[in-house]
Amino acid sequence: MTCDEVKPLLNARLDGEIDPAQAAALDSHMETCSSCAADLLELENLRFAIREEMPYYKASADLRGQVRLALRGAEYLDSRTRRTDWRIWGAVAATLVLCALAATPFLVYTHNQHQLVAEELLSAHQRALIGRSVDVISSDQHTVKPWFNGKLPFSPPVTDLASDGFPLEGGRVDYAGERPVAALVYGRRLHKIDVFVWPSAGEAGDKDPPARFARNGYNEISWKKGGFSFTAVSDLNDAELTAFTDLLRNR
Ligand SMILES: [Zn+2]
Repeated sequence: MTCDEVKPLLNARLDGEIDPAQAAALDSHMETCSSCAADLLELENLRFAIREEMPYYKASADLRGQVRLALRGAEYLDSRTRRTDWRIWGAVAATLVLCALAATPFLVYTHNQHQLVAEELLSAHQRALIGRSVDVISSDQHTVKPWFNGKLPFSPPVTDLASDGFPLEGGRVDYAGERPVAALVYGRRLHKIDVFVWPSAGEAGDKDPPARFARNGYNEISWKKGGFSFTAVSDLNDAELTAFTDLLRNR
């Protein structure tokens, strides 16, 4: 086989779409021709990159049909040029990008929702720093927890971490995401940490790693546990806030 015969068949070879005799002839050409071997390698790398880096969504039968039709047209028009493969792969890559884009609004939406809540909680924390930060002043978790009775439609878990250097200072009712949330206030030297707590849907997300958000010197760490969503907000440095939330998550 010559290079001109081999190159248009490289894609089909990768797909296992050519018969064994032809494949054997192609492979033996590849052993002696560095140009064709390099083209095959490049094709393989391109496929690998697409597979690794693009989110995968199954195309509808209709879309698959359109892509096949487009590819056949391109193959026909370009069958005599050496660049056929790259044009076809460009079309395939563009189609994959379009599929991915079509499927992303939902992900973008949930991402925005999280960002919105994160920003609201940061505002709530900053408001509290300026004005009243605690409605019930107590370092006793058995005083703070019952204080929420009747003020919230749920009873937040309250843990004191004084022995770990994060004393509970009290709590208040705050608002975020258009619903009341419990705010537990902890201290660390001169820093305040607000831990916002509200019910989450079921146990889903308990095993997820904590989500992080940082803005203007404030850090936020969010997690879920036992049917509740938690977000800790503070101007405390990231390492100490992480240590604090690790303690709280593991209680
Ligand atoms: Zn060759």
